[in-house]
Amino acid sequence: MKKNKIVAIALLTIALGLTAVASSEFLQMKKPDVVYPASGLTKKSSLSAYCSSLKGTSGDTPIYFFDSKQPGATVLVLGGTHPNEPAGFISAVVLVENLKVQGGKFIVIPQACGSGFTCTDPLEGYPESFSLQAQHGLRNFRFGSRVSNPLDQWPDPLVYRHFPSGQSLSGFETRNLNRSYPGRVNGNFCERVGYAILNLIKTENVDVAFDLHEAAPEIPIINAIIGHEKCQDISAAAILELEMNSLTYALEVSPKNFRGLSHREWGDSSKVLPFLMETSNPIQGRLRGKTDANLLTQGVDRFYAKAKATANFRITYDEVNGYPLKVRVARHLAGISAILGAYNDKYPEKQIKFSNIPSYEEVTSNDVGHYLH
Ligand SMILES: [Zn+2]
Repeated sequence: MKKNKIVAIALLTIALGLTAVASSEFLQMKKPDVVYPASGLTKKSSLSAYCSSLKGTSGDTPIYFFDSKQPGATVLVLGGTHPNEPAGFISAVVLVENLKVQGGKFIVIPQACGSGFTCTDPLEGYPESFSLQAQHGLRNFRFGSRVSNPLDQWPDPLVYRHFPSGQSLSGFETRNLNRSYPGRVNGNFCERVGYAILNLIKTENVDVAFDLHEAAPEIPIINAIIGHEKCQDISAAAILELEMNSLTYALEVSPKNFRGLSHREWGDSSKVLPFLMETSNPIQGRLRGKTDANLLTQGVDRFYAKAKATANFRITYDEVNGYPLKVRVARHLAGISAILGAYNDKYPEKQIKFSNIPSYEEVTSNDVGHYLH
């Protein structure tokens, strides 16, 4: 009897120990990533300022303002709409930590879908985080899920009906921020986050907005600039400029009948000129092999190399160098600079004047961490 008691106490202690470790790991996922803003930061706010019911939720993500207090355009940059697409998120962090604005205003949201950063996609075998070698040590960042955490919005309906169009999508997409625009103030969690972002665009009179993404190497819209039809002249001018620097981007027009997407709904509901950019991210691909933080940052995968050499469909992958994060971030930053240059040419009376966004050559030769404090 006494022996049974000792065994029971021992098992209970082990169970409690494992629970403690598991809960501490679980709570770690809720810890926000640290960002060190550049000295030009004029205000830090959060999304609940544009939809009060987000207060205290994981949707209440930080917003960084760089206001030159001089006349000029207002620019919004969103990273982390899909938290499993790190180039968008890290490009936004590089902006927050380096940007200088001399005319107009920049607003940056590095983790647009804050909720998706608190979990990972089940069955993908994804790492929870990754590290980058910054100027003075290692920086750790969360790698999250494409959609919001089910703890914030559950259960998914069988069919997701987009508001207000009524378009039907798979039930899972109800937690996808980039299917939730224009959103509604009293809607579900994701619709409220979408509403808050669009409300910010209207309240702050945003002139140009970017939504930075990544996708699997086999997705055809990789390395494209997708814009609302009212931005096509700016997209085309930017693509020519990028082409002169040997950077190829495809020009895509936002489909009119595919609702809920940032570039479509922001452009339809406000005066903003919206752009979405995609880079090639092997860790999201269906052909990938070993899935770890190394694949995320280095983008080297032997199955993609083989597919590129043998497959007769389009794959955006470099057989020699892979598709590392530094190239993906460099492309996003180059795209932003080129589009804003084309915007300034078109609207000389309302220019956005900025500096200190590292160039494509700088990011690819020094690596991303060089631009993180
Ligand atoms: Zn995406």
